Amino acid sequence: MIIGILKEIKTDEYRVSMTPAGVEILHQAGHEILVEKNGGIGSAFTNEEYVAHGAQIVDTPEEIYRRADMIMHVKEPQPSEYPLLRRGQILFTYLHLAASEDLTRALMDSGAVCIAYETIQKDDGSLPLLTPMSEVAGRMSVQEGAKYLEMAHGGLGVLLGGVPGVDPGNVLIIGGGVVGVNAARVACGLGAKVTILDTNIDRLRYLSDIMPRNCFPLMSSPAAVRDLIQRSDVVIGAVLIPGAKTPKLVTRDMLATMKPGAVMVDVAIDQGGCFETSHPTTHRNPVFKVDGIIHYCVSNMPGAVPKTSTQALTNATLPYAVQLADKGWQQAMRESPEIARGANVVLGRITYKNVAETFGLEY
Ligand code: NAD
Repeated sequence: MIIGILKEIKTDEYRVSMTPAGVEILHQAGHEILVEKNGGIGSAFTNEEYVAHGAQIVDTPEEIYRRADMIMHVKEPQPSEYPLLRRGQILFTYLHLAASEDLTRALMDSGAVCIAYETIQKDDGSLPLLTPMSEVAGRMSVQEGAKYLEMAHGGLGVLLGGVPGVDPGNVLIIGGGVVGVNAARVACGLGAKVTILDTNIDRLRYLSDIMPRNCFPLMSSPAAVRDLIQRSDVVIGAVLIPGAKTPKLVTRDMLATMKPGAVMVDVAIDQGGCFETSHPTTHRNPVFKVDGIIHYCVSNMPGAVPKTSTQALTNATLPYAVQLADKGWQQAMRESPEIARGANVVLGRITYKNVAETFGLEY
C-alpha cells in the first residue's frame, strides 16, 4: 500500500503523524511511504531522516492525495484538502466530527474511508489513541501550573515543592483518569501535597494503591471541591464523562474563596471545561484572569511539546496503521472490532452513531 504522511496545516500544530522510526517499520512491511516535504520539521525530524528510514519526500499535499491509498494526519483535514480526498482512500487521523458539520459533510461527499483515532476503542472501553495525548496533557498541566504560580507570571509566588522548613504547595486534581493520574505523578514528584478527586470508588482504591504518600485520593462531591479549593495553589480540571459535556464543578462564586494568584488549569476544556469561568485559549495566549485567579485553558496542550507528542502518538497509532496497510480497511475492520469502531464515515455513509445523531443524519 502507498501511505501518505502530510505536513500539518492547522494553526500552531507542529506534530506529524509518523516518526522516521515508524516509517521504517511500515517500509519493512513492504509499504511505500510518501512524506510531505518538511512535514516533520516541527517535531525536529528532517527530510533526510525520513529518507534514511525508507520514505520518499514529496513536494505537495496534492501529490500525496493523488498517489496514496492511505492518508495519515494528526488533525482533521482543512477545507483546502476536502476536494483532494478520493473515493475509497483511507483517511486515518483525529477527526472529532461532532464538532463540525461542514467537515462531516465534506468527508461524506469525498467517498473516503475515514477512521478517527479518537473512536478506536478496545473491548474494555478504553481509547488507546486518546490515552497518549492525555498522558502528555496531564504531565504538562502541573508544569504549566507551577510556571504560572511564579510572581513574574502573575501568580501568587509559591514553589510547589517547598523547601526544607517551608510548606509545599497544594495541588487539587479533579478527575482521576489518565490526565489526573499523570498530573498527580508529576505533582507528587515535585513534592507538592496532592489531592485527587474522583466519583468512581474503584478508581480511588486503585489510586490509593499506586500513588505515593503525598497523594490523597478522595471522593468527589460539590462539598469536597468547595472545601479543598480554598487551600489550593493549583487546581487541575481533568474530568470526563464520555459522550457528555463536562459538568461545571468549579463555579464562579467559588473563585472568591480562593487565594488570589492561584492557578486553574482546565485540561478538560476540549470537552467544554469543568470550571464555569473557563474558555478555550491558545499556546500564543494561554492564560487569562478572572477574579484574581489565573486560568490556563489551552485546548491542544500536546501541541506545545511536539517532539514528545509525535513519538507518543506514533507509538499508539503504528500498530493500527500496520494492520490497515497490510490487510486493507475491509479485512482489518472485519478482524479487529477496535478498528471497526474507529470508522466514522465510509464510502459516503456515516458509520458512527453519535456523529449521525449530532447532525440528524442517516446512520
Ligand atoms: P478519563 O476518562 O481517563 O478520566 C476522567 C475521570 O473523570 C474518570 O476517572 C471519571 O471517573 C472522573 N469523573 C467523572 N465525573 C467526575 C466528577 N464529578 N468529579 C471527579 N471526577 C469525575 O479521561 P482523561 O483521558 O483523563 O481526559 C480528561 C479530559 O482531558 C477529557 O476531557 C479529555 O478530552 C481532556 N484532554 C484535554 C487535552 C488538552 O490538550 N486540553 C489533552 C488530552 C485530554
